[in-house]
Amino acid sequence: MGGVGEEHWAAAVRLLREAVEHDRRILLVCHVNPDGDALGSLLAVGQALTALGGRVQATFPGPLELPEPLAGLPGQHLLVAEEAVGVPDVIVTLDAASEERVGRFAALLDGVPSVVLDHHASYTGFGGIPIVDPGAAATAVLAAELIERLGVPFDRDIAYCLYVGIITDTGSFRYDLTTPAVHALAAKLLATGLRPGEISRRVFDTRPFGAVRLYGDVLSRAVLEPEHRLVWTTATLADLERHGQPAYVLEGLIDGIRCAAEADVACLLKQIADERWSVSMRSRGGTDVSRVAIALGGGGHRLAAGFTGTGAADEVIGRIRAELGR
Ligand code: AMP
Ligand code: MN
Ligand code: MN
Repeated sequence: MGGVGEEHWAAAVRLLREAVEHDRRILLVCHVNPDGDALGSLLAVGQALTALGGRVQATFPGPLELPEPLAGLPGQHLLVAEEAVGVPDVIVTLDAASEERVGRFAALLDGVPSVVLDHHASYTGFGGIPIVDPGAAATAVLAAELIERLGVPFDRDIAYCLYVGIITDTGSFRYDLTTPAVHALAAKLLATGLRPGEISRRVFDTRPFGAVRLYGDVLSRAVLEPEHRLVWTTATLADLERHGQPAYVLEGLIDGIRCAAEADVACLLKQIADERWSVSMRSRGGTDVSRVAIALGGGGHRLAAGFTGTGAADEVIGRIRAELGR
């Protein structure tokens, strides 16, 4: 656990308060291919700083389109395309454990004061003031504390963003880091008038019918390797094309295979290009998959991690097998 040192909180709050006071340009950046925690934290902090009167731009590497499940997040007026981002005076990175995760914005961190808001075990130590707690269930939990320390009350829009961050990273309050404090925070957020059923239907439970058929194909190809306590499958670009689906429908599909009782580790290889895979890994508790992911160039948490793999799917799985055997 460890938590965040009081001196780091004080420094972060001071930096951001002064930035607002002196009308400095504040740039918020979350990780590439942002999930609900990254975008929710980004837009929550963005709206809170705006409420204080701050000059805020929010962005992430890559095209600015939000996947449909996250398209309902408030605060999107703060989003600025990568190319249109101005020179900032202060930077806050959110939900990114390493500089690679913020792409070209990593270069801006040299010589610009910054705050790193993150909860990954694989945090590399990059950036300025670390508001980093691997014991936090989501970056949104740290974002909520930052917003409270800045003295901004949770309105419904800020609460919506934080709630989406929390449900995304706790699997809707199912994972081990779901502490009493997380539930207490969720209660506070819901009290602003959020409708949890509506939000989770939108975020988790609404996909095109083509996605349902695609899941069938991907799940029916799953391979169990009892000797390695490993279950894995692939989702290829051809699968997406055959069913006319965008890549975001593959987020969460790992949940469909990680329940296999005979395995401890589940892997989903999502093809992003020829011989290039975005790999999701989950553990049922017996394996630290962040160790495997870090060894293969990625990062994450003990029970949920990922990396980008190159080569044929068999080769990528071979590398995972080898790391599991270490
Ligand atoms: P996912 O499987 O995409 O839900 O990601 C699970 C966890 O692994 C998240 O905490 C991610 O931050 C981390 N992760 C996934 N892909 C990568 C990557 N290419 N590099 C670093 N961390 C990753
Ligand atoms: Mn994330
Ligand atoms: Mn996160």
